[in-house]
Amino acid sequence: MTAEQPSTTNYQLFSDYHTHPQGHRVQPYTQALLQPWVDSARKMALSEIVFTDHDRYHAGISFDAIDRLREGNLDLRIRAGIELDNDPIRSAAGRKWIEQHWNKLDFVLGSVHFLDRADQMFDTVPAGAEQFEGKDIDAIYADYFRRVREIAASGLVDCLAHVDLIKIHGHRPSAEIDAIVSETLDFIRSRDLAIELSTAGWRKPVNELYPSDRIIELAMEKGVAFTTASDAHSHVQLAENFARLAEKMSIFGIREVCVFEKHRRELRAVSPGVAEAPPFL
Ligand SMILES: [Zn+2]
Ligand SMILES: [Zn+2]
Repeated sequence: MTAEQPSTTNYQLFSDYHTHPQGHRVQPYTQALLQPWVDSARKMALSEIVFTDHDRYHAGISFDAIDRLREGNLDLRIRAGIELDNDPIRSAAGRKWIEQHWNKLDFVLGSVHFLDRADQMFDTVPAGAEQFEGKDIDAIYADYFRRVREIAASGLVDCLAHVDLIKIHGHRPSAEIDAIVSETLDFIRSRDLAIELSTAGWRKPVNELYPSDRIIELAMEKGVAFTTASDAHSHVQLAENFARLAEKMSIFGIREVCVFEKHRRELRAVSPGVAEAPPFL
């Protein structure tokens, strides 16, 4: 355990699979932009990070800059990624860019940030909450998870980000949504995709990990693999609340997370005592 990532468990989380070096505007990848993220990773006792800027800022991504960063920081695994949104206007270009650069990317997140309105992400805080006013919350949930299945079906993602983001403002369905969630997780499993455990939910109005305990249970039953993620929009948010996440994972008995290299997934132990995968025969 390090001072930066204290935990009452013997877990050591080592990977942050959701980060935004560009924040919320195009900022071309340079060593000056990226190095603070690497320094932060080291400080937080991480050994692996992925850059996953929103697809609408793909113009800022430079694989050459990532290569140079790798060369200067050989002790860390630095992965190239992107977050594919369901932006009805801008994500068409993002999808095309991902197709063109698929072989250079290690990892693609799939995210649902848009419902019926094309002009506003529903997860804008606090403004996005107006999209829920006077609406049937159960219907919104059903519609949201339908969109999650749609992006999972795109064939362009390795992992679903914040899979129950729809709860962000604290709206809860009245009906039992197990069936919809279960069907969605079955679909994710059938596509062999992972989902993330994201601490970002703890800094939002809902103040709850993404996803909920019930979804974690269902995902475990179905054998869906997890990544660990902070959704940091600044390097100071990297690995935020990972000690708290480690405790949660120890309660659930989640002892492995997955990592990706060129979209190829591998499981890695986050707690001692997990047998290493048998050698390839
Ligand atoms: Zn997102
Ligand atoms: Zn994000």
